[in-house]
Amino acid sequence: MSGTVRNQRTLKQTVVLEGIGLHQGLPAKATIHPAPVNTGIVFVREDLGGKTVRAHVENVSSSKSVLSTVLAENNAEIQTVEHLLSAATGLYLDNMIVSLSGPEMPILDGSALNFIQAFRKAGIVEQTSPARLLAITRPVSFVHGNKEIHAEPSSQFEVHYEIDFFGKLVQDFSFRLTKHRFQQEIAPSKTFCFASDVEKMQAAGMAKGGSFQNALVYGDQGLLNPEAQTFENEFVRHKILDFLGDMRLAGAPIIGKFTVKRGGHAFHTKFLSHLLSENLLEEIDHVPVYQDSSMELALHWA
Ligand SMILES: [Zn+2]
Repeated sequence: MSGTVRNQRTLKQTVVLEGIGLHQGLPAKATIHPAPVNTGIVFVREDLGGKTVRAHVENVSSSKSVLSTVLAENNAEIQTVEHLLSAATGLYLDNMIVSLSGPEMPILDGSALNFIQAFRKAGIVEQTSPARLLAITRPVSFVHGNKEIHAEPSSQFEVHYEIDFFGKLVQDFSFRLTKHRFQQEIAPSKTFCFASDVEKMQAAGMAKGGSFQNALVYGDQGLLNPEAQTFENEFVRHKILDFLGDMRLAGAPIIGKFTVKRGGHAFHTKFLSHLLSENLLEEIDHVPVYQDSSMELALHWA
Protein backbone atom coordinates (compact mmCIF):
# COMPACT_ATOMS: atom_id res chain seq x y z
CA MET A 1 0.00 0.00 0.00
CA SER A 2 1.38 3.38 -0.89
CA GLY A 3 1.46 5.91 1.88
CA THR A 4 3.15 8.86 3.37
CA VAL A 5 5.03 9.16 6.61
CA ARG A 6 3.92 11.78 9.10
CA ASN A 7 6.74 13.10 11.23
CA GLN A 8 6.39 13.65 14.97
CA ARG A 9 5.33 17.11 16.07
CA THR A 10 5.81 19.27 19.12
CA LEU A 11 5.24 22.87 20.17
CA LYS A 12 7.52 25.60 18.88
CA GLN A 13 7.65 27.26 22.29
CA THR A 14 6.42 26.90 25.86
CA VAL A 15 2.85 27.91 26.72
CA VAL A 16 1.32 28.61 30.12
CA LEU A 17 -2.33 28.03 31.00
CA GLU A 18 -3.68 28.95 34.39
CA GLY A 19 -6.96 28.52 36.23
CA ILE A 20 -8.45 26.14 38.76
CA GLY A 21 -8.91 22.38 38.86
CA LEU A 22 -12.48 21.23 38.17
CA HIS A 23 -12.68 18.62 40.90
CA GLN A 24 -10.25 19.71 43.59
CA GLY A 25 -10.97 23.43 43.11
CA LEU A 26 -7.30 24.33 43.67
CA PRO A 27 -5.31 26.89 41.66
CA ALA A 28 -3.78 25.06 38.70
CA LYS A 29 -1.00 26.25 36.44
CA ALA A 30 0.15 24.14 33.48
CA THR A 31 3.42 25.06 31.77
CA ILE A 32 3.55 23.08 28.55
CA HIS A 33 6.99 22.66 26.98
CA PRO A 34 8.21 21.37 23.62
CA ALA A 35 9.79 17.91 23.97
CA PRO A 36 12.25 15.76 21.97
CA VAL A 37 11.13 12.96 19.65
CA ASN A 38 9.74 9.83 21.32
CA THR A 39 8.98 11.67 24.58
CA GLY A 40 5.22 11.27 24.22
CA ILE A 41 3.13 13.30 26.63
CA VAL A 42 4.60 13.43 30.11
CA PHE A 43 3.22 15.28 33.14
CA VAL A 44 5.55 16.65 35.81
CA ARG A 45 4.43 17.52 39.37
CA GLU A 46 6.50 20.62 40.14
CA ASP A 47 5.09 20.69 43.67
CA LEU A 48 6.35 17.14 44.31
CA GLY A 49 9.95 17.76 43.33
CA GLY A 50 9.47 16.96 39.65
CA LYS A 51 7.86 13.52 39.84
CA THR A 52 6.80 12.36 36.37
CA VAL A 53 3.61 10.69 35.18
CA ARG A 54 3.43 9.36 31.62
CA ALA A 55 0.19 9.72 29.68
CA HIS A 56 -0.42 6.02 29.22
CA VAL A 57 -3.41 3.82 30.00
CA GLU A 58 -1.27 1.59 32.23
CA ASN A 59 -1.09 4.59 34.59
CA VAL A 60 -4.85 5.16 34.77
CA SER A 61 -6.06 5.12 38.36
CA SER A 62 -9.19 3.09 37.60
CA SER A 63 -10.83 3.53 41.00
CA LYS A 64 -10.74 7.32 40.63
CA SER A 65 -11.35 7.76 36.91
CA VAL A 66 -15.10 8.23 36.96
CA LEU A 67 -15.84 11.92 36.44
CA SER A 68 -12.41 12.62 34.97
CA THR A 69 -9.39 10.60 33.94
CA VAL A 70 -6.75 10.32 36.68
CA LEU A 71 -3.18 9.12 36.09
CA ALA A 72 -0.82 7.87 38.78
CA GLU A 73 2.83 6.92 38.59
CA ASN A 74 5.89 7.34 40.82
CA ASN A 75 3.65 8.17 43.80
CA ALA A 76 2.20 11.17 41.98
CA GLU A 77 -1.29 11.75 40.62
CA ILE A 78 -2.60 13.97 37.85
CA GLN A 79 -6.33 14.55 37.55
CA THR A 80 -8.48 15.66 34.58
CA VAL A 81 -5.94 15.04 31.82
CA GLU A 82 -8.47 14.27 29.09
CA HIS A 83 -9.10 17.71 27.60
CA LEU A 84 -5.40 18.45 27.09
CA LEU A 85 -4.93 14.99 25.56
CA SER A 86 -7.88 15.56 23.26
CA ALA A 87 -6.39 18.86 22.06
CA ALA A 88 -3.05 17.10 21.47
CA THR A 89 -4.85 14.51 19.36
CA GLY A 90 -6.77 17.18 17.48
CA LEU A 91 -3.56 18.99 16.52
CA TYR A 92 -1.44 15.82 16.03
CA LEU A 93 1.00 16.82 18.75
CA ASP A 94 3.14 13.82 19.66
CA ASN A 95 5.56 15.16 22.23
CA MET A 96 5.14 17.58 25.13
CA ILE A 97 6.09 17.97 28.77
CA VAL A 98 3.31 19.33 30.94
CA SER A 99 4.63 20.81 34.19
CA LEU A 100 1.89 21.22 36.77
CA SER A 101 1.80 23.30 39.94
CA GLY A 102 -0.50 20.82 41.69
CA PRO A 103 -2.58 17.65 41.35
CA GLU A 104 -5.00 18.68 38.60
CA MET A 105 -5.01 20.26 35.14
CA PRO A 106 -6.74 23.66 34.95
CA ILE A 107 -10.31 23.25 33.67
CA LEU A 108 -10.26 26.63 31.86
CA ASP A 109 -13.64 27.02 30.11
CA GLY A 110 -14.44 23.30 30.42
CA SER A 111 -13.62 22.57 26.78
CA ALA A 112 -10.44 21.99 24.74
CA LEU A 113 -10.62 25.32 22.94
CA ASN A 114 -8.15 27.21 25.16
CA PHE A 115 -5.55 24.48 24.61
CA ILE A 116 -6.06 24.58 20.85
CA GLN A 117 -5.77 28.37 20.76
CA ALA A 118 -2.65 28.40 22.95
CA PHE A 119 -0.95 25.64 20.93
CA ARG A 120 -1.68 27.31 17.62
CA LYS A 121 -0.41 30.64 18.95
CA ALA A 122 2.80 28.99 20.21
CA GLY A 123 3.28 27.29 16.86
CA ILE A 124 3.89 23.64 16.00
CA VAL A 125 7.08 22.19 14.58
CA GLU A 126 7.66 18.98 12.68
CA GLN A 127 10.44 16.83 14.13
CA THR A 128 12.93 14.49 12.50
CA SER A 129 11.42 11.06 13.29
CA PRO A 130 8.29 9.39 11.91
CA ALA A 131 5.20 9.57 14.13
CA ARG A 132 3.84 6.45 15.79
CA LEU A 133 0.30 5.58 14.81
CA LEU A 134 -1.81 2.69 16.11
CA ALA A 135 -4.48 1.04 13.97
CA ILE A 136 -7.38 -1.25 14.99
CA THR A 137 -6.57 -4.65 13.48
CA ARG A 138 -9.97 -6.38 13.49
CA PRO A 139 -13.57 -5.77 14.56
CA VAL A 140 -14.16 -5.86 18.29
CA SER A 141 -17.17 -5.32 20.57
CA PHE A 142 -16.76 -4.33 24.21
CA VAL A 143 -19.97 -4.38 26.25
CA HIS A 144 -20.59 -3.92 29.97
CA GLY A 145 -24.22 -3.60 31.05
CA ASN A 146 -25.73 -0.89 28.87
CA LYS A 147 -22.34 0.58 27.89
CA GLU A 148 -20.99 -0.44 24.49
CA ILE A 149 -18.05 0.25 22.23
CA HIS A 150 -17.73 -1.37 18.82
CA ALA A 151 -14.57 -0.81 16.79
CA GLU A 152 -13.38 -1.81 13.34
CA PRO A 153 -10.39 -0.99 11.15
CA SER A 154 -10.37 2.31 9.28
CA SER A 155 -7.70 4.49 7.68
CA GLN A 156 -8.75 7.43 9.86
CA PHE A 157 -10.28 8.20 13.25
CA GLU A 158 -14.08 8.08 13.08
CA VAL A 159 -16.54 7.89 15.94
CA HIS A 160 -20.30 7.76 16.30
CA TYR A 161 -21.32 8.48 19.89
CA GLU A 162 -24.71 8.09 21.56
CA ILE A 163 -25.78 9.26 25.02
CA ASP A 164 -29.02 8.62 26.88
CA PHE A 165 -29.45 10.04 30.37
CA PHE A 166 -32.78 9.04 31.96
CA GLY A 167 -34.41 8.95 28.53
CA LYS A 168 -34.45 12.76 28.75
CA LEU A 169 -31.07 13.86 27.49
CA VAL A 170 -30.65 11.80 24.34
CA GLN A 171 -28.13 12.90 21.70
CA ASP A 172 -25.90 11.36 19.05
CA PHE A 173 -23.18 12.72 16.81
CA SER A 174 -20.73 11.40 14.22
CA PHE A 175 -17.25 12.80 13.89
CA ARG A 176 -14.27 12.14 11.65
CA LEU A 177 -10.98 13.66 12.81
CA THR A 178 -9.57 16.27 10.47
CA LYS A 179 -7.74 19.44 11.34
CA HIS A 180 -10.71 21.72 10.76
CA ARG A 181 -13.44 19.54 12.18
CA PHE A 182 -11.84 19.07 15.60
CA GLN A 183 -11.46 22.76 16.24
CA GLN A 184 -14.85 23.68 14.82
CA GLU A 185 -17.06 20.81 15.93
CA ILE A 186 -15.56 19.28 19.05
CA ALA A 187 -13.01 21.51 20.81
CA PRO A 188 -15.51 24.21 21.97
CA SER A 189 -17.86 21.73 23.67
CA LYS A 190 -17.88 22.07 27.45
CA THR A 191 -17.98 19.44 30.14
CA PHE A 192 -21.36 18.92 31.82
CA CYS A 193 -23.07 17.69 34.94
CA PHE A 194 -26.52 17.28 36.43
CA ALA A 195 -27.80 19.76 38.97
CA SER A 196 -29.12 16.86 41.06
CA ASP A 197 -25.57 15.49 41.37
CA VAL A 198 -23.76 18.72 42.28
CA GLU A 199 -24.40 18.53 46.00
CA LYS A 200 -23.46 14.84 46.16
CA MET A 201 -20.29 15.41 44.14
CA GLN A 202 -19.18 18.33 46.28
CA ALA A 203 -19.88 16.40 49.47
CA ALA A 204 -17.57 13.71 48.06
CA GLY A 205 -14.85 16.31 47.40
CA MET A 206 -15.46 16.56 43.65
CA ALA A 207 -16.54 19.33 41.26
CA LYS A 208 -15.32 21.95 43.75
CA GLY A 209 -14.05 24.11 40.89
CA GLY A 210 -17.19 23.70 38.78
CA SER A 211 -19.20 26.77 37.76
CA PHE A 212 -21.76 27.97 35.24
CA GLN A 213 -18.81 29.27 33.21
CA ASN A 214 -16.91 25.98 32.84
CA ALA A 215 -19.67 23.36 32.80
CA LEU A 216 -23.11 22.94 31.30
CA VAL A 217 -25.48 22.18 34.16
CA TYR A 218 -28.59 20.17 33.35
CA GLY A 219 -31.58 20.50 35.68
CA ASP A 220 -35.09 19.04 35.80
CA GLN A 221 -36.34 21.59 33.29
CA GLY A 222 -33.31 21.38 30.96
CA LEU A 223 -30.10 23.36 30.70
CA LEU A 224 -29.66 25.87 33.54
CA ASN A 225 -26.98 27.97 31.81
CA PRO A 226 -27.76 28.16 28.09
CA GLU A 227 -25.51 31.25 27.83
CA ALA A 228 -22.49 28.90 28.24
CA GLN A 229 -23.63 26.61 25.43
CA THR A 230 -22.06 26.58 21.94
CA PHE A 231 -23.88 23.66 20.29
CA GLU A 232 -27.42 22.38 20.68
CA ASN A 233 -26.04 18.80 21.03
CA GLU A 234 -22.99 19.87 23.02
CA PHE A 235 -23.26 17.07 25.59
CA VAL A 236 -22.54 14.30 23.08
CA ARG A 237 -19.88 16.38 21.37
CA HIS A 238 -18.10 16.69 24.71
CA LYS A 239 -18.29 12.92 25.10
CA ILE A 240 -16.41 12.65 21.79
CA LEU A 241 -13.87 15.19 23.07
CA ASP A 242 -13.35 13.02 26.16
CA PHE A 243 -13.18 9.81 24.09
CA LEU A 244 -10.46 11.27 21.87
CA GLY A 245 -8.48 12.32 24.93
CA ASP A 246 -8.89 8.97 26.67
CA MET A 247 -7.87 7.05 23.53
CA ARG A 248 -4.66 9.11 23.36
CA LEU A 249 -3.58 7.12 26.43
CA ALA A 250 -2.61 4.35 23.99
CA GLY A 251 0.66 6.29 23.87
CA ALA A 252 0.09 7.37 20.26
CA PRO A 253 -2.89 8.46 18.15
CA ILE A 254 -5.26 5.66 17.11
CA ILE A 255 -7.07 5.19 13.83
CA GLY A 256 -10.22 3.11 13.56
CA LYS A 257 -13.98 3.39 13.34
CA PHE A 258 -15.76 3.47 16.70
CA THR A 259 -19.38 3.35 17.83
CA VAL A 260 -19.81 4.25 21.50
CA LYS A 261 -23.04 4.03 23.51
CA ARG A 262 -23.34 5.56 26.98
CA GLY A 263 -19.59 5.56 27.63
CA GLY A 264 -17.61 7.42 30.27
CA HIS A 265 -13.98 7.80 31.28
CA ALA A 266 -13.70 4.52 33.18
CA PHE A 267 -15.34 2.58 30.34
CA HIS A 268 -13.23 4.30 27.65
CA THR A 269 -9.97 3.45 29.39
CA LYS A 270 -11.07 -0.13 30.18
CA PHE A 271 -11.80 -0.54 26.48
CA LEU A 272 -8.36 0.79 25.60
CA SER A 273 -6.71 -1.62 28.04
CA HIS A 274 -8.68 -4.41 26.35
CA LEU A 275 -7.40 -3.33 22.91
CA LEU A 276 -3.83 -3.46 24.16
CA SER A 277 -4.09 -6.72 26.11
CA GLU A 278 -5.84 -8.51 23.22
CA ASN A 279 -3.36 -7.21 20.62
CA LEU A 280 -6.10 -5.38 18.74
CA LEU A 281 -3.81 -2.47 17.88
CA GLU A 282 -0.86 -2.58 15.52
CA GLU A 283 1.70 0.09 14.91
CA ILE A 284 1.77 1.49 11.38
CA ASP A 285 4.07 4.20 10.10
CA HIS A 286 2.52 4.88 6.70
CA VAL A 287 -0.62 6.92 6.45
CA PRO A 288 -2.73 5.78 3.48
CA VAL A 289 -2.93 8.43 0.76
CA TYR A 290 -5.73 6.96 -1.33
CA GLN A 291 -8.43 8.92 0.46
CA ASP A 292 -9.08 12.02 2.51
CA SER A 293 -7.00 10.83 5.42
CA SER A 294 -7.05 12.89 8.58
CA MET A 295 -3.36 12.25 9.14
CA GLU A 296 -2.56 13.34 5.61
CA LEU A 297 -4.38 16.60 6.18
CA ALA A 298 -2.32 17.04 9.30
CA LEU A 299 0.83 17.27 7.24
CA HIS A 300 -0.28 20.70 6.14
CA TRP A 301 -1.49 21.82 9.51
CA ALA A 302 0.39 24.28 11.68
ZN1 LIG B 1 -14.51 16.13 29.65
